[in-house]
Amino acid sequence: NTQRIGILGMGSMGRALASTLLEAGHAVTVWNRTPGKAGDVLALGAHEASSPEEAIEASDLTIACLLDAASVRETLTPAMPTLTGRTLVNLTSGSPRQARDLAGWLGKHEVRFLTGGVLAVPPAIGTDEAVILYSGPRDLFGRVAPTLAPLARPHWVGGDPGFAALYDMAALSGMYGMIAGVVHAMTLVQADGGDVEAFQREVLQPWMEQMLPLMFAESDPDESNAGMQATALEIMLGASADAGVPAELAGHLRAALWEMRRAAA
Ligand code: NDP
Repeated sequence: NTQRIGILGMGSMGRALASTLLEAGHAVTVWNRTPGKAGDVLALGAHEASSPEEAIEASDLTIACLLDAASVRETLTPAMPTLTGRTLVNLTSGSPRQARDLAGWLGKHEVRFLTGGVLAVPPAIGTDEAVILYSGPRDLFGRVAPTLAPLARPHWVGGDPGFAALYDMAALSGMYGMIAGVVHAMTLVQADGGDVEAFQREVLQPWMEQMLPLMFAESDPDESNAGMQATALEIMLGASADAGVPAELAGHLRAALWEMRRAAA
């Protein structure tokens, strides 16, 4: 059942979505602010539109996969007359408030709208591991889910357009918390003269793998009681202070991300 699908945004994720939908046999029209970014997607048979309006007009269903909520507004504002009466799925990351604001604005223009939250990296799109959360009208989800299913398992989380964003951001919090813990652990070992590479391979990774299944298991108070855990945490924070390593876990991650961003600029 071939559908005509428009994709706004040919970043890493937009390209992964486009190539997967092409492989599933759909007719895909793509648009990107900066021309010439569609690359492989054109070789797979996508048509390149010269404006968002052209991509929307050529499609039964339009997917936006841009950087953030501001870029979605900027892209859709001039295209709104074309989008009126059509269907948009926004797979751009955003906050629940941004998703609700966008839904309100699109609703006024009679756009049928679903919020999406992509729980997958681009290479995982089209594999069994990938999940995309959707929220918005259930009947609309029911109609578009079969078309979107090749991308990732479609999982509807409620009628409130903010919910897909909420669950997406909360899942990211879990992920960034884990990353922050690992960054803190390695910083601590390095600061006190340890062998970071050996620590990571021989100690940290096996330890984290042992912990992961326990994260969601019922904890047995006879095994690791709360008083002991609170004390152990204080000892860990004290060790960090001794080594001059800030103990606020998210602070490490923030510093690491800014450093990565500076390095990439
Ligand atoms: P990229 O940085 O690779 O691409 C960003 C895209 O946004 C480009 O197409 C860029 O166009 C476009 N863009 C940026 N600003 C504007 C603007 N003002 N107007 C129009 N277009 C604009 O990002 P990704 O493709 O990786 O990510 C896209 C979305 O998917 C993000 O919201 C991200 O959070 C989400 N996501 C990404 C994941 C990943 O691992 N990559 C995982 C899960 C979600 P141009 O080429 O002109 O700059």
